Amino acid sequence: MKLGAMLNDILTSAFKAPITERYPFERKAAPERLRGKLLWNRDTCTGCGLCAKDCPSGAIEVLVYDRKAKKFVFNYNVDKCLFCAQCVHSCRQGCLELVSDDWELAALDRGGYAEHWGDEEHVNAFLAGILPEVPAKAGSAE
Ligand code: SF4
Ligand code: SF4
Repeated sequence: MKLGAMLNDILTSAFKAPITERYPFERKAAPERLRGKLLWNRDTCTGCGLCAKDCPSGAIEVLVYDRKAKKFVFNYNVDKCLFCAQCVHSCRQGCLELVSDDWELAALDRGGYAEHWGDEEHVNAFLAGILPEVPAKAGSAE
């Protein structure tokens, strides 16, 4: 590049607004159809385990502690998720959604990718290694 052209570029750039975005300080809204993290609606979940059964990567596990009382632990391993939305389509109750506004999923260690949803009592029981007496026929998230 000739010196004259280079100086011209430098001067033009110095007075132009930057093209780059100041992420993460400035964020644009995510596209509506972006598939971010899974969201589970515990109120409508029946614990059927279909989502886990159909998940191609074993990212979901549904543990049923008490079906009548709707005591479930829903384990979701974000690092295994392909964001394919198969679970969303498989769930007949419409409990699952891949939300567009939760997509910044980087974590410093893989432990941060394991999500356990449900009553605190049952999540704690699961974390302590206490499993339901009759586990749901479901997938096998770790
Ligand atoms: S989006 Fe796909 S990979 Fe992720 S949990 Fe659902 S079925 Fe599994
Ligand atoms: S398919 Fe739907 S209702 Fe069945 S366990 Fe999964 S989230 Fe719950």
